[in-house]
Amino acid sequence: MSGQPRWRRIVLKMSGEVLGGTSGFGLDDTVVNRIADEIRAVHALGVDIGIVVGGGNFFRGVEAAVMRGMDRVAADYIGMLATVINALALQEALERCGLETRVMSAFEIRAVCEPFIQRRAVRHLEKGRIVIFAAGTGHPFFSTDTAAVLRAAQIKAEVILKGTDVDGVYDRDPHQDPAAVRFERISFAKALELNLRVMDATAFSLSWERNIPIVVFNITVPGNLVRTVCGEPIGTIVM
Ligand code: UDP
Repeated sequence: MSGQPRWRRIVLKMSGEVLGGTSGFGLDDTVVNRIADEIRAVHALGVDIGIVVGGGNFFRGVEAAVMRGMDRVAADYIGMLATVINALALQEALERCGLETRVMSAFEIRAVCEPFIQRRAVRHLEKGRIVIFAAGTGHPFFSTDTAAVLRAAQIKAEVILKGTDVDGVYDRDPHQDPAAVRFERISFAKALELNLRVMDATAFSLSWERNIPIVVFNITVPGNLVRTVCGEPIGTIVM
């Protein structure tokens, strides 16, 4: 590993499931603390870090709407609030690692965090603070993947690192088909054409339009976050 970061400003997107560990539900302290420590190592390389966390370890709007007959908008707000729980847990873990952080929410929750204000977010990053973006885009019918691209565009991040539990983008679901082949690099056009489930089409379209590459990598493997930031081709780059 060269130890030189490939990008100076990144957005790290983590699904809620990753923070839930092997069960994929709730918060696994060991996993949260390990990831926090890896984020500390990336920060020590001089990288500005914005983080978007999902909420799927607690609640997913679309699932609640389909399976329980909930109103989709209400369900999506519950999902967005789930991301706030994850953001606060991650903030706490990062601060225990000695990092300065801020949580910025897409809608106001004044007792626990700041509202998202673009200029203020950039200022935090310039001061070396890690900024955790909570509550997705603040609107129903969107995903936290789309929120990650939106925030990356707003803070002028050079890349979106999407940490998942698979090693990158495959031509088929590798959990279901062991013959699935991983792409080292794939174009946005191809990713959209193949209807890859790794990110939704809204997120892919916006990152294509804003020309922000997305690196999909396996964050459940210790050390992979730093390796990815240093440009090791361990995942898939969509560009
Ligand atoms: N959500 C939303 N708008 C957003 C982002 C998220 O309504 O801009 C809701 C939606 O219900 C979603 C839930 O929050 O299912 C949790 O986010 P997501 O499913 O993206 O989390 P992940 O799968 O990454 O854990």
